[in-house]
Amino acid sequence: MVGRTLTSVAIIGGGPGGLGSAIALSQLPCLRVTLYEKNSEPREAGAGISLSTNAWRVLDLLEASDGVWGGSKSNTHQRNAYTGKILSITQHPENSAVDQRGSIRARRARLQSALLAKVPEGVIQFNKKLVSLESLPGEGVRLVFHDQTEVAADIVIGADGIHSWLDQVVRRALFSDHQLHFTGNTAWRVLIPKSRLAHLPEITSTTAWWWGKVGHVYFSDVDDGRDKDPQFEITIRSYHEPEVVGKTVGWGIPATNQRVASRVETFDQRVRDAVSVVAEGEWREFAGFAGPRLDNITGWDKVALIGDASHPLFGAFGSGATFAMEDGWILARAIERTQFASQPAQKALEIFNLIRAPYYTRMYEHLDEVHEKLQQLQAEKEDFNHFLQAKVNHFLYADKDFIYKNDIRKVWEDYLSTE
Ligand SMILES: Cc1cc2nc3c(=O)[nH]c(=O)nc-3n(C[C@H](O)[C@H](O)[C@H](O)COP(=O)(O)OP(=O)(O)OC[C@H]3O[C@@H](n4cnc5c(N)ncnc54)[C@H](O)[C@@H]3O)c2cc1C
Repeated sequence: MVGRTLTSVAIIGGGPGGLGSAIALSQLPCLRVTLYEKNSEPREAGAGISLSTNAWRVLDLLEASDGVWGGSKSNTHQRNAYTGKILSITQHPENSAVDQRGSIRARRARLQSALLAKVPEGVIQFNKKLVSLESLPGEGVRLVFHDQTEVAADIVIGADGIHSWLDQVVRRALFSDHQLHFTGNTAWRVLIPKSRLAHLPEITSTTAWWWGKVGHVYFSDVDDGRDKDPQFEITIRSYHEPEVVGKTVGWGIPATNQRVASRVETFDQRVRDAVSVVAEGEWREFAGFAGPRLDNITGWDKVALIGDASHPLFGAFGSGATFAMEDGWILARAIERTQFASQPAQKALEIFNLIRAPYYTRMYEHLDEVHEKLQQLQAEKEDFNHFLQAKVNHFLYADKDFIYKNDIRKVWEDYLSTE
């Protein structure tokens, strides 16, 4: 299959994971790569996206970093949402030491465009919503789309994001008993012209998290000096939203101002003033989902799940797009490495699983530790102000270098040295 004749690879989904995979895989002459995206055009739901050293490293490998820029996060404040008290200021000097570009917050659409620009012409097919897939014994995979067309592919990459769960397509095809549940954690996100907030310099002058008891607000630049009409991001998170059966699946759907404002009505006046400049119809709502964790992110010896399709972390580390691109790059290396092997697809997926599955396990272990620590803090510190300060301190000083400084090329080199 791989090596002698062209191996066909079908990528499902054109988010950061699918696009990153398409770039990396299209560089391999042994493959014929097609990306199927359900939307009718390139589209990115959401607002801003954080990019750190790990992101720059994989974007460099994909030769897509030149098209990405955003607001610097070099001056980040943690604040009490009710009083505005500044609990901590991070200057991020360590980032500039590792990579001059530092940590930024960029428009999601900009990351999407930078990746799209590097995907060779003819690779992407829009308006192609996958509705089912089936393993063909001894052969590849049969894919059926909503327009009733079908294709066969030797290798399938499920890069269909959290929709892999909601629409029950690639992930559910492999792991049919897995169910997704609403976590109660909902985000509302918007990008607005920064000029609308000109009367609130305290809001616009730094990246800031304003922490409340059952939610927080995040403010950030997403542009730098080169943008004529810079945009500004506001994201509100609520941790304990009630489930409304049949309705709590909103992903990028509009939310009313009244619904969003009610989540911050007890917050500091400056936060409420900033939220009030958002026009009706601009907010988008994202409901958080979780499900069983996967030890194995491949199936049928010819299907790999990447990015949110395998591990929807709902922005827990603010690095999910990078994880998805890293997955795609490693998968390309594994396929390249095994192209002349006797069962190339199976071997490539084994390598991919061996490298990436434990990395996600480590992330979940980190989240479990944080969760445990928060519960312990909550039990110890009855007063909210004391609890919040301890929480901020704990979050800031927890070691997350394995995420933000991850060097995916080195990860591959390390694998080769132990192979
Ligand atoms: C509130 C919030 C904040 C976040 N903040 C950050 C951040 O700061 N930094 C960061 O890196 N990450 C962040 N993330 C996470 C990040 O958005 C995701 O991890 C990332 O988008 C995952 O990329 P992906 O390619 O796996 O999936 P997606 O981006 O979800 O892309 C999936 C694609 O598949 C397509 N698709 C779905 N179903 C089908 C189908 N059946 N057929 C064909 N196409 C299909 C979709 O249309 C979409 O284009 C955040 C997430 C949330 C919710």
